[in-house]
Amino acid sequence: MFCETSDVNILIVDDNYKSLFALEKFLKKKCDATIIKASSGNEALTTMLNHDFALIILDVQMPDMDGYEVLEIMRTNEATSSTPVIFLTAVYNDDEHSFKGYKAGAVDFIFKPVNEEVLFCKVKVFLELYQKRLALQKEIETRKKIEQRLKWQAQIIDQIHDAVISTDLDGVITAWNKGAERMFLYSEKEAVGKHVSFLCANFDDCYTSLSFPGLIEHIKEHGHYSAEGIRRKKDGKCFHVHISVSLLRNMDGDVIGTVGYSIDISKRKKVESELARSNLDLKQFAHLASHDLQEPIRMVGSYLELLKKKHAHLLDDEANEFIEYAVDGSKRMKNLIRDLLEYSQVGKGSKEFEKTDCLEVLCDALDNLKVAIEEKGAIITHDPLPVIMGDKVKLVQVFQNLIGNAIKFTKDKPPRIHISSEFRGNEWLLSFKDNGIGIEDKYKESIFTAFKRLHGKGVYPGSGIGLAICKKTVMHHGGRIWIHSEVNKGSTFYLTIQHDKALDSKGDN
Ligand code: ADP
Repeated sequence: MFCETSDVNILIVDDNYKSLFALEKFLKKKCDATIIKASSGNEALTTMLNHDFALIILDVQMPDMDGYEVLEIMRTNEATSSTPVIFLTAVYNDDEHSFKGYKAGAVDFIFKPVNEEVLFCKVKVFLELYQKRLALQKEIETRKKIEQRLKWQAQIIDQIHDAVISTDLDGVITAWNKGAERMFLYSEKEAVGKHVSFLCANFDDCYTSLSFPGLIEHIKEHGHYSAEGIRRKKDGKCFHVHISVSLLRNMDGDVIGTVGYSIDISKRKKVESELARSNLDLKQFAHLASHDLQEPIRMVGSYLELLKKKHAHLLDDEANEFIEYAVDGSKRMKNLIRDLLEYSQVGKGSKEFEKTDCLEVLCDALDNLKVAIEEKGAIITHDPLPVIMGDKVKLVQVFQNLIGNAIKFTKDKPPRIHISSEFRGNEWLLSFKDNGIGIEDKYKESIFTAFKRLHGKGVYPGSGIGLAICKKTVMHHGGRIWIHSEVNKGSTFYLTIQHDKALDSKGDN
């Protein structure tokens, strides 16, 4: 029989070296514990200051300080107060002394000559107990740490401004933070135990069309679920929320419910709807104004032309020059009104997006720009271009505006334009790089607003609406547009277009 007790110390104390070594030899043979020896009470107490012992086997009769005194001092020290002590004695083998030993706190009292097997059985029990105690202590410490962490996490969750709500697999609320209390006005006590759907303004709105098991399946498949909806507070008031729900798992990784994070987005919704309404008003106004202005300006233009044609000979040179200016002005006004009308139409009554090959878009745009390309000797190159979901006619217009500008805004050299494309996981990045006059950094935002031009019409023709239309169209396709430019070196216009996953399965791109 061998006692496996690693990392465990046993202290043996005896003033008789012969007994001390014999006991050490026996214990070393039987246990893999570390045996430490002391030959006096003082030495034993000093050793105890530096080591933790699973068991102390203490001789009772020793000069200077006997075993009882050693034990008494030990019990006053917190570190050694509960260390088990077995007394060994060759002299005091009577009940009175053994009773004294037990009273002092010894766990056993053994008379010499020692029956080694009996001693070993007792030592073994204490070593096992010690190891169990160590394991228990470790467990308690780990639990304390976990408890502290949980407490800390609970505090963090409570301090979150927004609502954090967890449910079981059936949708019954299991936890409700202070943020939820503030948002819904129900206390934790009122909410926990109820089905989460009691917060929805109406049943249809709750997790849109997903039933609770459906919601869990959805999260398993997509990682999480997020949506906007309308919720009702305890006082009956409804408000808009954005919710994001994930699965809740236990320590073993099993799904035990959901945890949802809700943000009150009522203010944002209000601003959005006000913006949409004012955008609509603005669009209607721009459309009406430009539409209604077309007729009078057409009349001004045609009567001026008539005046020039029929009465030019009756007027002097100066008057004819003035008529020229007026005709020119009315033509520009006509173009401006036409462009404004076009701008106000972007996104309005637009077609459903369809599968659109950007190479075809480019070809159409180049066809429309044929004259300008030939006149300026422009060289246009491109990377392989993607197939996307979009409105082809509008995209041709974007390509045409960007390439047309790249051809137009050059000086003293033939335009060189390169169109590249790069796939970025969920979107395509298209760029239009030219070797033109470039623009200063301070204008890189404003050139996308309607009628913003950096040059007089005499230098470069145009109405300043092209990039505004590009921006509107790109945004309508869920993308962004921006420019990097260096004066006299050239510009690169970048635009992104959302990638539609449905195209992947069709083997496009
Ligand atoms: P337009 O071309 O009719 O002037 P745009 O809206 O297309 O109007 O462009 C607005 C302004 O942005 C232009 O007047 C010009 O100053 C600047 N711009 C546009 N494209 C380029 C380019 N490729 N290189 C340099 N400047 C450009």
